[in-house]
Amino acid sequence: MDEIERILRANDGYAAARSNTGNPRPLRRLAVVTCMDARIDVFAALGLHLGEAHVIRNAGGRVTDDVLRSLALSSHVLGVDTVVVMQHTKCGVAGVSDEELRDMTGADVDFFAFDDHAAALREDVDLLTSTTFLDPLRVVAGFVFDVETGHLHDVTRWERAPEVTT
Ligand SMILES: [Zn+2]
Repeated sequence: MDEIERILRANDGYAAARSNTGNPRPLRRLAVVTCMDARIDVFAALGLHLGEAHVIRNAGGRVTDDVLRSLALSSHVLGVDTVVVMQHTKCGVAGVSDEELRDMTGADVDFFAFDDHAAALREDVDLLTSTTFLDPLRVVAGFVFDVETGHLHDVTRWERAPEVTT
């Protein structure tokens, strides 16, 4: 069966069993930024269900301008106050350089390649927490998902200081 036919057929079964579709606001007030890697089932890995979180995916799970654009809407329009940035082991943009990825693909773009998960996560969490238009965010966490064991490594965490009222 051709791949598109296979998708359409699967959708028939899925549509019949759907729920939690009345509200566009993520019920857990959560957005997850992660890699497009086929080995990550975001909802299953984090115990989430349909309607509970925004999932924003790209190569590497890096915080790019387009991720900031999506999170501006998540946080200001759709009530999100918590972001999880989740990189993973054996990632295709880890341990290579942008230059190597440009040579490999012929694409003259920024691939956000990195060597060290902890450093890259801290950089991305810093970018989120220092972006002034993301001021509704209260908690940002950086995790690494192990694609072999399925375990999460809790790498970095940020919480907005409570506002002092006088
Ligand atoms: Zn990846």
